Amino acid sequence: MNNKAQGNGSADVVVIGGGIIGCAVAMRLAQAKAKVTVLERGEIGAEASSAAAGMLAPQGEMISPPAFSDLCLKSRDLYPGFVAEIEELSGEKVGYRTDGAVLVGISDAECHELEETYHVQTKRGLPLELLTGDEARRRVPGLAAEIRTALFVPGDHWLDNVRLMSALAKACTRLGVTLRPHSDVKKLNATDGKVESVTVGGNGGGTTVSASQFILAAGCWSRDLTASPAMEKSLQPCRGQILEFESPDELPHVVRAGHFYLVPRASHRVVAGTTAEYTGYDKAVTAEGMRSVIEGVSRIAPFIKNYRFTRAWAGLRPDTKDHLPVVGHGELKNLIFSTGHFRNGILLAPANAQVVSELTLTGKSTTPSELYSPLRLSR
Ligand SMILES: Cc1cc2nc3c(=O)[nH]c(=O)nc-3n(C[C@H](O)[C@H](O)[C@H](O)COP(=O)(O)OP(=O)(O)OC[C@H]3O[C@@H](n4cnc5c(N)ncnc54)[C@H](O)[C@@H]3O)c2cc1C
Repeated sequence: MNNKAQGNGSADVVVIGGGIIGCAVAMRLAQAKAKVTVLERGEIGAEASSAAAGMLAPQGEMISPPAFSDLCLKSRDLYPGFVAEIEELSGEKVGYRTDGAVLVGISDAECHELEETYHVQTKRGLPLELLTGDEARRRVPGLAAEIRTALFVPGDHWLDNVRLMSALAKACTRLGVTLRPHSDVKKLNATDGKVESVTVGGNGGGTTVSASQFILAAGCWSRDLTASPAMEKSLQPCRGQILEFESPDELPHVVRAGHFYLVPRASHRVVAGTTAEYTGYDKAVTAEGMRSVIEGVSRIAPFIKNYRFTRAWAGLRPDTKDHLPVVGHGELKNLIFSTGHFRNGILLAPANAQVVSELTLTGKSTTPSELYSPLRLSR
C-alpha cells in the first residue's frame, strides 16, 4: 500500500460507511498501522448494525452454498477473540452469550426441515441435538404445546449489537482511526480507473478526502455510489422490523422458527423479529409488520402475549440478487467493495474484516473471493 501524505483531508484508507462492516475493517487496518478515516453519513453504527437482533447463527440460519456456510462458521469461531479485543480496547461489555439456540417445528414442513438440517449438519460434523417437543419445553419452559420437533444448536450464539457498535467505535478511536460522523459521501472522483478522492457533503461541507485505497461499506446505500445501473439493480434494501418486550423471566436460549425469533437481552428485555420486505429505503414500522412478528413469535412462544411491549424499530439489510456478500475489487482498481451481508452482517464482521484488510494491505486474500466478486453482479 502506498502511503499518502498525512494531513487534513487525506488518509491511507478511506472507509465509506460506519456500520459494523466498515468499523471492523477500520479496526483491523489501524492495527496494521494504516491511517484510516471512516466517513459516516449519520451516526456511527446507527443503521442496520444497531437495528439487528444480534444473532451469530451460522447453523440456525441454514445458510448455503457450503462455501458461504463455511465462511459464516469461521466468522462465528473468530468471535470470541474479536469480542475480547474490542472489550479490552473499549473497556465496555457487549453481552456476548454462547448458550445456544432452540429451533422449533410445528407443521410437517417445519419438522421435516429440522430433521433434514439435523442430518446434513451432523454429516458435516457440526454439533446439534434433535429434540422432541417435550425436551424443547424442558429447555425453554412455556414453549407452545404444539411444537413436535426441535433442534438444540449449541454453536449459535448472540450478543447485544448496539453495545457492540458502541464498543467497536471506541476501540477504533483508541487505535487512531478517525471516525467522521455526519460526513455524507456524495461522489467518488475517479480518473484512469482509479479513485482519487471522495466528495463529502452534509455537515462535512463539500470537501474532498483523498486516499490510496477506498472501501465501500455503506450497507444497502452502497449501490448509490457505484454509478452502475446493474449494481443498483442487484443491491436492494430489505426491511426488517423488530419489537422489544420486557421479559419477566430470563429466556435461556434464542428461540426460533424460520425467520421468527426471540433473542434475550440484558435488563429483562427480549427482542422479537422479524419481517423481510422490499420497500426501498423506507424504515417505517408498520401495523402489518408488527402483526406478523407478534403472530410469528406467539405461535411458538405464547408467553410473549403477556409481555409488556417497550418499543419497535426497523432496519435495512443490504441484500443482493443471490443473497451473497459483495467483497473485493470491481472495475476501479483501488476501490474494495465490502457490502451485501444481508441477514448475517453482524456474524460476518470479523471474517469480512480479515478478508478486506488483507485485500487492502496486500492485494490478496486467503479466502477465495470469486463467489463474492462485485463483478458477478454486472454479468
Ligand atoms: C431487523 C434486522 C435484523 C438483523 N439481525 C441480524 C442478526 O441477528 N445477525 C446478523 O448477523 N445480522 C443481522 N442483520 C443484518 C445486519 O444488521 C447487517 O447485515 C449489517 O448490519 C450490515 O452492516 P453494514 O455496516 O454493511 O451496514 P449498516 O449498518 O447499514 O452501515 C452502513 C453505514 O453506511 C452509512 N452510509 C450510507 N451511505 C453513505 C454515504 N453516502 N456516505 C457515508 N456513509 C454512508 C450509513 O449511514 C450506515 O451507517 C439484521 C438486520 C436487520 C435489519
